Amino acid sequence: MYISELGDLWHRSRVAPDIVHLDSAAASRSSDAVIGEVTDHLWRESARGAYVAAEQCAERLDRARRDLAAMVGHDPDGIAFRESALSALRALLTYWNMPVSATVWVCPTEYGPNLDQFERRGYSVHTMPSTDDTGRVNTDALENMLQFEQPDVIHVCHIGSHSGVVQPAAKIVELAHRVGVPVVVDAAQAIGQVDCVTGADIVYGTSRKWLAGPRGVGFLSVSDTSLRPVEIESSEAFIAGRIGFGTAVQELQSYGLERVRRELATIGERTRTRLDGVGSWQVVEPLDEPSAITTLAPPPGWQDSDVAAAREALRSRGILVTCADTWRAPLSREERSVLRISPHLDVEDTHLDRLAAELLGMGW
Ligand SMILES: *Cc1c(COP(=O)(O)O)cnc(C)c1O
Repeated sequence: MYISELGDLWHRSRVAPDIVHLDSAAASRSSDAVIGEVTDHLWRESARGAYVAAEQCAERLDRARRDLAAMVGHDPDGIAFRESALSALRALLTYWNMPVSATVWVCPTEYGPNLDQFERRGYSVHTMPSTDDTGRVNTDALENMLQFEQPDVIHVCHIGSHSGVVQPAAKIVELAHRVGVPVVVDAAQAIGQVDCVTGADIVYGTSRKWLAGPRGVGFLSVSDTSLRPVEIESSEAFIAGRIGFGTAVQELQSYGLERVRRELATIGERTRTRLDGVGSWQVVEPLDEPSAITTLAPPPGWQDSDVAAAREALRSRGILVTCADTWRAPLSREERSVLRISPHLDVEDTHLDRLAAELLGMGW
């Protein structure tokens, strides 16, 4: 039985997987329609000439911009396509006139490679206070801090790579804007899963995760088009991928974005409830955290290498999950590798039962 009412539709829209795929936070499975649009465009490029084919698809690309912009609450002119989320951030930091030795405040769940980008440019990075060990930003404490000191920018990793905790992005934006601080949101894991209309000045993300578009496409969206997104956009690009990305977003819209988000939250809760404590693995997030990402901390005494081995063992048994190492969230208080379980709408209770049975049998 599918956990989500949309499960059957999601399942029927794509090839049957060879495995139990619980790894959408790495990359979701694209639908037949998305794959069809990508390949159709490649055929058109060959038949008509690649630049002609792109011109003829201008309307579709515009639609993709409009749809994406609506998902983050920006103007379509603010969208720049890039190859990935990280490449979007890099381009932003290259084109944005940040002061030398800028101060950036980040969430405790911040994605490690983003921190590398800040450090490489000599920014001074500070971690915002959290409410508890999950790394959720404490907005009361933040409000206080902002009265005494303002960073040049707040960077919010809306949902991290090492945990399913959803940061209160809209609230952070509200507090930051009150004191004139711009906010950038990394929506790589958030877009498709949670509402990304937060009022943020800049939002970036990727196609392949919760939107189930192709790999190799990402985006940056700015609310202030004087930032010239045209310059930020990569001029040479995987146009077929952008078209496929647009198709994926349209599909999600046809299910109802709000409904998809609700169903994914339900899936997250069901996954955590089913797996918490099984074989002494512990769910890290609150059980009802509104995301479909579950992370499991290993039984006492397990090393990070044991978690990596567990992931490989699961893969050999036909279950795909991620071993999320600590580099993904170096500021987090969770200092161990965790197993990250990230099902999409087609997950069934039997999948979770199979995973639970494997975890139970793993006591080595
Ligand atoms: C995957 C991920 C990224 C990077 O996305 P790419 O498209 O691989 O560059 C950034 N932030 C978070 C939270 C991610 O999970």
